[in-house]
Amino acid sequence: MKNKIKFLKNIKAILIATNNSGKFIEIKSLLPQHIKFLSPKEFNLQEPEESGRDFKSNALIKAAYCSSKTKLISIADDSGLEIDVLDGMPGIYSARWAGDKKDFRVGIKKIYSELRVKKFNKIKARFVCALAIFFPCGFSKVVEGYVYGSISLFPKGNNGFGYDPIFIPNNYTKTFGEMSYTLKERLSHRNEAFKKIKKFFKY
Ligand code: IMP
Repeated sequence: MKNKIKFLKNIKAILIATNNSGKFIEIKSLLPQHIKFLSPKEFNLQEPEESGRDFKSNALIKAAYCSSKTKLISIADDSGLEIDVLDGMPGIYSARWAGDKKDFRVGIKKIYSELRVKKFNKIKARFVCALAIFFPCGFSKVVEGYVYGSISLFPKGNNGFGYDPIFIPNNYTKTFGEMSYTLKERLSHRNEAFKKIKKFFKY
């Protein structure tokens, strides 16, 4: 392991294995800024099928695919929103609930229509983020982070991306969509996952 960390001192470039610009920006801002960040678009890479049964397997599929195609260190995120009363849905299907056009107004509508029949005061939910880092030598590491909260009665705020306008983290009254970028980043599931993986970038 020590050798791996030494090797990371020399990281010059990392491929952030996502075509989601919101995620790209958030992942990039968590990593050391001297690194050159590349995206799958620059290599004309298709997105691999997310055939895993959980967030961690899907993150690893994406990181491994991009690393094998580019021979670069690749970092991928698989994330989503789990709602207790919907038995954890949309979960790993969070992106798919937004339809082929990835329109999150569609995903949000679907969530409210599924919730309409549930008469609960507080709809508990959590965001989950699995982060995978994959090295061209085959070494990999996958971690998971969470942020717990509830679903807002209606969407609020235009910041962030995806389901941010409907998620209120515990101990706050605003949705992620109403929060500043800095506050969301500090509280987020992505940041929690990153804390567990950042030892790879310390030197
Ligand atoms: P995937 O990881 O590309 O399969 O997509 C995960 C989906 O979960 C995103 O497209 C968003 O809809 C949702 N999601 C993940 N993280 C966040 C977040 O930080 N805010 C809002 N929505 C998120």
